Order: sequence, then structure tokens, then C-alpha cells
Amino acid sequence: MKLIEGKKIAEAVYAECVVGFHELKAAGYQPGLAVVLIGDDPASKAYVGSKDRKCRELGMHSVKIERPADISQEDLHVLIEELNQDEKIHGILVQMPLPDHLSEEEAILRIDPAKDVDGLHPTNLGKLAMEDPTGFAPCTPSGCQRMLIESGLETSGKNVVIVGRSLLVGKSLALLMMGKGAGADATVTVAHSRTKDLAAVCREADILVAAIGRPHFIGTEHVKDGAVVIDVGINRIDDPTAKRGSRLVGDVDFDAVADRCEAITPVPGGVGPMTIAMLMANTIRSCRMKAGL
Ligand code: NDP
Repeated sequence: MKLIEGKKIAEAVYAECVVGFHELKAAGYQPGLAVVLIGDDPASKAYVGSKDRKCRELGMHSVKIERPADISQEDLHVLIEELNQDEKIHGILVQMPLPDHLSEEEAILRIDPAKDVDGLHPTNLGKLAMEDPTGFAPCTPSGCQRMLIESGLETSGKNVVIVGRSLLVGKSLALLMMGKGAGADATVTVAHSRTKDLAAVCREADILVAAIGRPHFIGTEHVKDGAVVIDVGINRIDDPTAKRGSRLVGDVDFDAVADRCEAITPVPGGVGPMTIAMLMANTIRSCRMKAGL
């Protein structure tokens, strides 16, 4: 069994970012990312903190904007418009989920598609469907695809089963992997909560992707011998033996299935680090497009 170490692969992405950064610097540009955090959800705060830290490490301009949970939809739109107009900002990410009274769709619609480095604006999702390389694909699915490519795992002609159909992960990854080219050309099945005999569907997978949000949901009955397993899930579970009383686990029961896999991602240290790396890569690319490089 090969462990697909997202943390290591992310370093390769950062090395490319550094090259891109220096080219931009020579041309008089500094890539800038703005991350908007509404409210004080601890998990969202932690994600925003690591994005901000990574930006600074890479020498990028980083703006972290925090607003109270009771911000109005109109004020959020005003904030997004200011960032759209800000010449120093090349990427805008509104951290999800937003508080219940706010519409995520309306907020995303306000982001300039050229700065939508999270790839969730309809223009970028349309470009993803059309395989137009000028768009931005959502960071988690592109991170999954990049991991497969960097690990030398063939996707062409393979049966890929993705459990989960969210726009953020499952649906977008399906579009990427059914497309043409490296890390793609796959025969893709998307399963969800209404899928009949999920375990049998999953056992058809040469590459099984879990993006469900249920700890240890995928077990031995879902995984055929020699499969590649990508675990997108991030779930916090109680663990009295852990320092914080809890720990992060994936959607896959790693200990149960690892032995039968050709390759598998760990949680943490798998897809998570790749998501942040792809966000940085998208921001650099956005700046390069602005600079005409
Ligand atoms: P969503 O809740 O939006 O989607 C979950 C999907 O799982 C839905 O399509 C749902 O089906 C499906 N599902 C739920 N229960 C079952 C079931 N019993 N059988 C089959 N399918 C089921 O979650 P996200 O896509 O946003 O996230 C999924 C996981 O990935 C979460 O753990 C999240 O924390 C993690 N994540 C990790 C990231 C990273 O960087 N590593 C980034 C983003 C997310 P239905 O549509 O029918 O309800």
C-alpha cells in the first residue's frame, strides 16, 4: 500500500508558486489574496488562519477580513465589491459556510469571476464544464486530481466512483475527471444518499473518492482489492486520549481498508493541505493573467 502524502505533494505545488511569484515580482506585481470570514466558527477561523499564514510565507499580499455573524447581505456585497475593485487583490475567498440568514449563492455571484480563486462562480463552473483553461476549478477537487497525477496513478479509462455530489467537491471533481487529459479521461459515477446498494457501486471503483462528511463511513465492504482511495472528509470526533479531547478523521475507515488498497490518502495530511496549495496556485495564476504573463 502506498500512502498518498498530500502534505509532500503540496510542497511541489508551493515550489511552482515560488517560481511564479518571482516572475511576477520581476514584472512589478505582488499576488494578493483576500479571505473573508463572517462570524466566529472555530473550524472556519482555523482554515482562514492557515490560508493567511501560507500566503505570507510565500511573500504574497494577504488580507484577512473578519465581520460579525449579524452582517447584512447588502453589507457583505459592498465588502465584496470593494475587493473586486482593489488592484492589490487577485483572489477573493468567502469562507463557507455563511451564517443561516446569508445567501452563499448571492455572495458568490458578486465576486468578480477573474478573482474567484475558489472556483464557485457560475462563470468558472461553466468554464470547468466546458474545459476552458482560463477558468478556476474549485480547490479541493483540483487538489485531488493533482495528487493522483503527482502520485503517478493512472486515471485514463479507470472507473472512478465519487461518493458525494456537492458543488464544492463531488460534482466538480466528477467534471474534472470525466474531462480530457492528465488526471482525467475516467469513467465517472457519482453516488449520494439516494444511491441504491452503495457498497456494490463503490466496489466497482478503481479509484474511490469519499466526500460525504461522515466519520469512517467507508469500510471494507466498499473497497475492492487494489483500489485507490481518496478521502476528502474532515470530521472531528471525540477522543478522550487526545490532547484536545478530540481528533480529526476522514470519511474512510483507514485502518480497516488501507491494507487492501493500492494507494490511499491519510486524514489529516492528505487532501486538506492540497486544498490550500491549490488556492495559492489559483491566486498566483489570477495575478499572472492580470499581468498578461
Ligand atoms: P456536503 O454535506 O455538501 O455533501 C455531502 C454529500 O455526501 C452529499 O452529496 C450527500 O448526499 C452525501 N451523503 C451523505 N450521507 C450519505 C450516505 N449515507 N450515503 C451516501 N452519500 C451520502 O459536504 P461537502 O461536499 O462540502 O464535504 C464533504 C466532506 O469533505 C466533509 O467532511 C467536509 O468537511 C470535507 N471537506 C474537506 C475539504 C478539504 O479540504 N479536505 C474541503 C471541503 C470539504 P445527498 O446530496 O443526497 O444529501
